[in-house]
Amino acid sequence: MARIMVIGGGIAGTAVALGLHKAGFGVTVHEAHPNTGADVGAFLTLASNGMRALAQLDAATLVAGLGFPLTAMHVLDENGRELAALPLGEHEHPLTRYRCLRRAALGAALQREVRRRGIPIRHAARLVSVAERAEDVTVTFADGSSATADLVVGADGLHSAVRTQLDPAAARPGYAGQRVFYGYTADAAVPPEGPSDRITMVRGSVAAFGYAVSPTGETYWFARVPGPPATAEELAGTTPAQWRERLLPLLRADRTPAADIVAATGEQLMVTNALQLNPGGRWHSPRTVLIGDAAHAASPATGQGASMALEDAVVLAKALRDARSPAAALDRYELLRRPRTERNIEVSGRLTAARSARPEPSSPDAAVPAARDSERPERRVDEELLRLLDWRTPLPATGATVRDRPGP
Ligand SMILES: Cc1cc2nc3c(=O)[nH]c(=O)nc-3n(C[C@H](O)[C@H](O)[C@H](O)COP(=O)(O)OP(=O)(O)OC[C@H]3O[C@@H](n4cnc5c(N)ncnc54)[C@H](O)[C@@H]3O)c2cc1C
Repeated sequence: MARIMVIGGGIAGTAVALGLHKAGFGVTVHEAHPNTGADVGAFLTLASNGMRALAQLDAATLVAGLGFPLTAMHVLDENGRELAALPLGEHEHPLTRYRCLRRAALGAALQREVRRRGIPIRHAARLVSVAERAEDVTVTFADGSSATADLVVGADGLHSAVRTQLDPAAARPGYAGQRVFYGYTADAAVPPEGPSDRITMVRGSVAAFGYAVSPTGETYWFARVPGPPATAEELAGTTPAQWRERLLPLLRADRTPAADIVAATGEQLMVTNALQLNPGGRWHSPRTVLIGDAAHAASPATGQGASMALEDAVVLAKALRDARSPAAALDRYELLRRPRTERNIEVSGRLTAARSARPEPSSPDAAVPAARDSERPERRVDEELLRLLDWRTPLPATGATVRDRPGP
């Protein structure tokens, strides 16, 4: 297997291109967007496991220069009372700290790095079809051009065209029960609270809210609001000011900084529906394989989608590097990655559903509750994951093929 085409130049696509190149394959990336990419999702937190995966691709230092680190999480209730204060992930080392960063900055940096290593990226290349033959695979793009390789990696995100080609009957992503509001403001009077490397999660009476203040004083925030999905017309036709006015009454009832932060936000306010893929879909055929959101998109509640995509990239590159045949590599990749990524979908879905249910009234006398899953950063380093990601360590034998896997 010499030539590999990566479809999608987002987080998964650029990362897997770096991994495959490092493993010695000839790689090209084909990205639908005409330039570096849209600013969908606005900002991300990259978790320690994602930073570890980047380190295996020699790209952690690059990403550690973007955005700002987060080393602690504080949890507030609807009255602004602090319920918990926890260290966040592997915060001791600058390269494994959580990072809060703009999606566009991350995407542009990863694409630059791909080019710097001599991997071609073709923009305005939107895949529309995939035709596999015994000896190769040919993809066709919306502009009528085509390309042939030994393997296609579908890293084309939530609405993956590669997934539809792989399995025309595959379920489409479904609404997870929450709209997600995102924004930035430099004008919020956030309460003084010590160093700027903390994220504060607010268990509001209606919405789950989170915010972090950058070292330059800009507040990054999100709100997850249960209810029906925003319609396509609403998403296209509602201004940031109108969204702000809809969100504010849901936050005003609480005595937390959330409402004031949103009130201080101007045009930089976005809304999207939280979507997820049901577990159990097909991940690969002999010459096509899915990674990242194309394979296992979760609702955003756990904040792990990007990190899972980065882990996939390392494991797929190692599997192809080490396996005796491409079929064995793709089987091994899927068997190693499916349980962890599907658990993320399940946990994130559960959290989203919990927030979508009617909130229980909280008692001021209640004992400080344990942090919930989205508020429970991995503090213990998972040794098995470390071995899986470590570039020098061969992947463990899985002793099974995908066909042996019990059905979903
Ligand atoms: C509101 C929201 C908040 C989130 N917050 C976080 C967070 O804090 N932390 C976190 O880890 N994750 C978060 N996520 C999840 C995270 O954004 C995704 O898991 C991650 O972007 C997946 O990366 P990907 O490369 O698989 O897909 P994408 O980032 O979607 O990239 C797919 C790429 O493929 C391209 N493409 C699409 N179709 C085609 C085609 N037909 N042909 C060629 N190219 C194509 C796209 O232009 C894009 O560049 C969030 C998601 C949402 C929606």
